[in-house]
Amino acid sequence: MKIVMLGAPGAGKGTQAKKIADKYGIPHISTGDIFRANIKAGTELGMKAKAFMDQGQLVPDEITIGMLMDRIGEPDCEKGYVLDGFPRTIPQAESLTEALGARGEKIDYAINVDVPDENIINRMSGRRACLSCGSTYHIVYAPVRKEGICDRCGAQLVLRDDDKPETVKKRLEVYHDQTKPLIDYYGKAGALCTVDGTQSMEDVFQSIVNILGA
Ligand SMILES: [Zn+2]
Repeated sequence: MKIVMLGAPGAGKGTQAKKIADKYGIPHISTGDIFRANIKAGTELGMKAKAFMDQGQLVPDEITIGMLMDRIGEPDCEKGYVLDGFPRTIPQAESLTEALGARGEKIDYAINVDVPDENIINRMSGRRACLSCGSTYHIVYAPVRKEGICDRCGAQLVLRDDDKPETVKKRLEVYHDQTKPLIDYYGKAGALCTVDGTQSMEDVFQSIVNILGA
């Protein structure tokens, strides 16, 4: 069961990826984790990646793909895996298809967690964060006991710049430009499954289970 997660930033695909990994006993693989693991272990690819990151540059796709292929060659990936945050662009998806194809493998499911932009902007702008202890809340989905005050440590809550509508809109624009074409790409490959991401987290997960099988 080889899965990639698709969906806009803030659509909740990371949460669903973790739930899929737990239920089906397959690893949840994010590029962030792979980078950290390779840098920590001092692998050749990790050192190359670090050199780019230290200069504030994007890590080239071939390095990321190299680390990813190393990771999915590990024994815990024999039954499959859930990729979260990769691929993000068509060239990355093509490289992945090619690298998997060389091993006689392919992505079985591309799960698109579909949420309209307005919905994402509303969700994100309801988030509140405590910069003091790192707790996060939501004015609708995870409210605090006393408005504007952290339940855990009593500090003032803020709306982070990352969650402000103008920032979210910019991220969504990048998503529409670069990542949304992947929906067509995996559609043509016959791997696309779209779930309604506006449902509750549990209902979204149930829709995914209906696709993957219990
Ligand atoms: Zn706090």
